[in-house]
Amino acid sequence: MHLRKRVMVTGGAGFLGSFLCERLLEAGCDVFCVDNFYTGSKRNVLPLLDNPYFELHRHDITFPLYVEVDEIYNLACPASPIHYQVDPVQTTKTSVHGAINMLGLAKRLKARILQASTSEIYGDPSVHPQHESYWGNVNPIGPRACYDEGKRCAETLFFDYYRQHRLRIKVARIFNTYGPRMHPNDGRVVSNFILQALRGDPITIYGTGEQTRSFCYVDDLVEGLARFMEKTPDDFIGPVNLGNPREFTILELAEKVLELTGSSSRLVFKPLPMDDPKQRRPDISLAREALDWSPRVPLDEGLAQTIAYFEQLMREGCL
Ligand code: NAD
Ligand code: UDP
Ligand code: UDP
Repeated sequence: MHLRKRVMVTGGAGFLGSFLCERLLEAGCDVFCVDNFYTGSKRNVLPLLDNPYFELHRHDITFPLYVEVDEIYNLACPASPIHYQVDPVQTTKTSVHGAINMLGLAKRLKARILQASTSEIYGDPSVHPQHESYWGNVNPIGPRACYDEGKRCAETLFFDYYRQHRLRIKVARIFNTYGPRMHPNDGRVVSNFILQALRGDPITIYGTGEQTRSFCYVDDLVEGLARFMEKTPDDFIGPVNLGNPREFTILELAEKVLELTGSSSRLVFKPLPMDDPKQRRPDISLAREALDWSPRVPLDEGLAQTIAYFEQLMREGCL
C-alpha cells in the first residue's frame, strides 16, 4: 500500500538520531521523527524540515503513542552522564516506560524495532575487551545506575517481548560515539576537550587520564545501525556491539585534540567521577561477521570533522 517504508526514529532530533534520519531519507524512507527536545534540538534537523518525507513530532515516549509505521529505531534517551544525571528518575522512565510504549506500539503494528542500547550495560568491566556474552559489572545504586540499569531493563523488555510476543527485535550496544552535532554542553570528553582547546582553556583530565575509551565516528555508527536493521534476518536479534575497537587513553585523546587544533591549552587534573569505568573496548567480531561492518573513519579524521563543526558554531556565535 505504501511505496515508501515508514520509519520512526525516537530521539531523532538528537546527535545520533539526526544523522540516522538523514541516512534513512537518503535511502528513500518516509521518516517520522519523535523527540521531546530534552537534549536534542530542532537545529539538528533544520535542513530536513523542507523535505516532504520528513515529519517532526514533539512527544515524550514515556507516554503512549498511537501512529502507523513499518519500523522503529528507539534512540530517545539522554546519553551523556551530565544530562542523564540531572533528572535520574526521568532517565529511568525514558528507558523503561519508553521501551514498554515503543514495544507495545511495535506489537500492535507487527513492526520491527531496534533498541539503541549501550556499552554502559557492561558497567566498569572486569572482562576486556567486552564481548556480547559478558554480563557486566554495574553498581545498581550509584549515580550512573539510572542510565545503566534503565538500559539493562530495556534490553530485558526487548528480549521478553521477543520471547513472549514473537516481536521482531534488534538490540545494538553502542560504544562511545562522537562527531558534529554533539551537544556542546553535555560534558562528554570529546566535545569538552575540543571546546577547551579552541577557547584556550585548560583541558580537564579526570583522574590520571590513564582510563581508556574507544571512539567511533558517527557516520560509521549510523551505518552499523542501518545495516543491522535492514540487512539482517529476523532471527538475528543481537545484542550486537557497535563501536570502534581502537582504544585510547584519555591523555592520548587530549594530545590528539591539542595537535589537531594547534592549541596551547595546558592540562589540569580533576577528580575522577564516581563509578567511572577504567577501560572500554568493544569486541566487534559479531558485527564484522553478521553485518559485514567495521568502522572506517580513523580518530584523526573524525576529530578534524568535529573540530570544524565546533569552529563553525563559534563563528556563528552559537557558543
Ligand atoms: P542525545 O542526547 O543527543 O539524543 C537523545 C535524544 O532523545 C534527544 O534528542 C532528546 O531530546 C531525546 N529524548 C530524551 N528523552 C526523551 C523522551 N522521554 N521522549 C522523547 N525524546 C527524548 O544522545 P545521542 O548521543 O544521540 O544518543 C542517542 C541514543 O544512543 C541514546 O539512547 C543513547 O543512550 C544511545 N547511545 C549513545 C552513545 C553515544 O556515545 N553517543 C553511546 C551509547 C548509547
Ligand atoms: N502502546 C502505545 N502505542 C500503541 C500500542 C501500545 O503507546 O500503539 C503502549 C500502551 O501504553 C501500552 C504499552 O504500549 O500500555 C504496552 O503495550 P502492550 O500491548 O504490550 O501491553 P498492554 O499494557 O496494552 O497490555
Ligand atoms: N573525561 C575527562 N574530562 C572531561 C570529560 C570526561 O577526563 O572533561 C573522562 C571521563 O572521566 C571518562 C572519559 O573521559 O573517563 C569518557 O567520558 P564521557 O563522559 O565522554 O563518556 P563515558 O564515561 O560515558 O564513557
